Amino acid sequence: MASSGSSAGTGTGTGSSGTGGSAATGSSADTVSTQRTEPECESQDSRGDGEARVAPWGIIIPITEGFHSMELVNTEYSFGRDFNCDYIFPDNDAQRYRTYSSRHFHIFLNGDPFIQDDSMNGTYMNGNLLSRDEKVVLPNYATIALGGAEHHVLTFCNLMHQDGHKFPDGLRDRYMIAKELGTGVFGRVFLAFRVGSLERVAIKMIPKQDLALQEVPTTNVKAEAEILQQLVHPGIVRFLEACDSEEAFFIVLEYADGGELSQWLKRRRVLCEKTSKFVFYQIVLAVHYLNEQGVIHRDLKLQNVLLASTDEEPLVKVTDFGLARIAGEQSVARTLCGTLHYLAPEVFDVGKSRAGYGKAVDCWALGVILFWCLSGRSPFVECPAGTSMAEQIRSRRVVFDPQVWATISQSARDLVTHLLTVDPSRRCTTQQALQHPWLQDPEMKMKVQRLWEG
Ligand code: ATP
Ligand code: MG
Repeated sequence: MASSGSSAGTGTGTGSSGTGGSAATGSSADTVSTQRTEPECESQDSRGDGEARVAPWGIIIPITEGFHSMELVNTEYSFGRDFNCDYIFPDNDAQRYRTYSSRHFHIFLNGDPFIQDDSMNGTYMNGNLLSRDEKVVLPNYATIALGGAEHHVLTFCNLMHQDGHKFPDGLRDRYMIAKELGTGVFGRVFLAFRVGSLERVAIKMIPKQDLALQEVPTTNVKAEAEILQQLVHPGIVRFLEACDSEEAFFIVLEYADGGELSQWLKRRRVLCEKTSKFVFYQIVLAVHYLNEQGVIHRDLKLQNVLLASTDEEPLVKVTDFGLARIAGEQSVARTLCGTLHYLAPEVFDVGKSRAGYGKAVDCWALGVILFWCLSGRSPFVECPAGTSMAEQIRSRRVVFDPQVWATISQSARDLVTHLLTVDPSRRCTTQQALQHPWLQDPEMKMKVQRLWEG
């Protein structure tokens, strides 16, 4: 059926400023594509046509190149090759294109969202072949494949059931909240779409009651947010904006599509030296940039290193820097106790003296990350004698398991040792790490450069 809603059929690439989403745009995308990467706040009437915006009940997100995103406003949408369909499949892959039907499937709203197959070669939802003409409930974040269970082309995102959270109106006017991505030490993170451009973002909600935020004046938070907004580097997750309500702070971040380095590492158990180097070099460059800009990360860990894509050799992005500046030093000091593995020894002694509690804490965490990448485990494990991890960190009892480290070069081990130096004044800096022999690999550097250039 033909779309009549104001946003229906708007084919926009999700783009995501180089974070790995399919950047392909549909034929009607051009009118809005220039809005995609601008972090500034947009007005409610983001299309500038004076019309009131009709809130969509769903979004179609592309997975495969050539497909585009689309807001769902009307009650029914047809998908297929035919030019009369509301969503027309791309013909960039001739072999695949032949397997698509004129009208392949349709999605409609009948209380819940439904999908129905109309094709010759089949429509698959979450890997299951749909029986032709059977109406099936379409769950949030369902993956749709065409002509074969593996040919994933689109994801459906349900926007109807995501409204229970207390997002301030100012934010809700500009972003459509799609789903919760997960929970961390500081709060919950949601996937959202920027109104108009459909650029994906991550919104971090930090409940004030969980933190010692009462002591942080709002003006400070705004000023700090402005500083973080100025930071732009391919190796860091862009800080787009921040605002607050009575209950919580909200931080809008660039979305990274490939998950956390911790999960990537867990799947592979260890990274070979070549991959470790490629990933670690990117992290050091990002932390070096942050430190140069006067921002100490303080919560650097595998979970705060995100991958921009699901590629084999992905662009790596450091996130959650500067949270101490938003949430207040006290809150961070308290919450950081949850991530003991990465804490520098001087942090334990912060009560005694604050000397040296600076950039060097990030270098210590870099040492832990590199150790973890190379060996698949933390340098600090609870030892049977009952020495606590805090005690081990303070006395730097790093366990280089000979079985694991036998195949790892002396040069890599040397860098780890220099980063995990107890005395912060003697610890390897990011500048020194970048000059360390282990990271002098022109081929690897070229690869990183190419990724950065997109
Ligand atoms: P911490 O609170 O110390 O940062 P954490 O990193 O484990 O701990 P969060 O940062 O709150 O937790 O992240 C929660 C979830 O949201 C994680 O699964 C994380 O990968 C995901 N996430 C966070 N930021 C982004 C982002 N910018 N893009 C994509 N996913 C993100
Ligand atoms: Mg995090």
